[in-house]
Amino acid sequence: MTETHLITDELLLSYAAGAVEEPVALLVATHLALNPLARSRYRRLEALGGAMMEEIEPTPLRQGALDAVLARLGEPEALPARAIRLPAAEHGPQSLIPRPLRDYIGDDPATLAWKPLMRGVVAFDVPVGDPATGGVSTQLLKIEPGRAVPQHTHRGAELVLVLDGGFTDLNGHFIRGDASVGDETLDHRPVADPGSDCLCLIVADGPVRLTGPLGWLTNRFWGS
Ligand code: ZN
Repeated sequence: MTETHLITDELLLSYAAGAVEEPVALLVATHLALNPLARSRYRRLEALGGAMMEEIEPTPLRQGALDAVLARLGEPEALPARAIRLPAAEHGPQSLIPRPLRDYIGDDPATLAWKPLMRGVVAFDVPVGDPATGGVSTQLLKIEPGRAVPQHTHRGAELVLVLDGGFTDLNGHFIRGDASVGDETLDHRPVADPGSDCLCLIVADGPVRLTGPLGWLTNRFWGS
């Protein structure tokens, strides 16, 4: 894990203020649970912005995050209705799926209803947030060792958190606990590490757009 593979300060602050959508809160909280560097960054921001972040009774993420978003809709100037606590660090023999993600999908990825996305890549739609609000997709992706995800860009923000294995793209090498923050300017071709599956949690504003030589062909496939 390195300092360059962390969620941005801006996003951490929004998370702390309860001002992000539930899928984003889930990814950030899981990142914080896994990554000591992210936790110390969060604590530093918390100290800086202490006045802004009131201590409150802990609430389950699922309920708290959604309530906070609903409470703030239409009143961006308002003080945060509630803050989200720093999730507990995972100690000892770590579960592959740390809290809080475990609360959503359980602790055994093998039991999930994976669907094939492309050769060597399967996906699982994480049940989080309100599908009716649309737009945000939350998926687990499992990529075979050494397999490349085709070159693509994004229609909006893309947050990737590595849960197992690792991948490399133009921004470097990402391992368990690392996060990648991309937007429509990121055009990348992640390649999974050899040796083990790369398991990632991905929250994206919209579908990806393939940009490789066969992008026009495979876009239809990916978009389904
Ligand atoms: Zn991407």
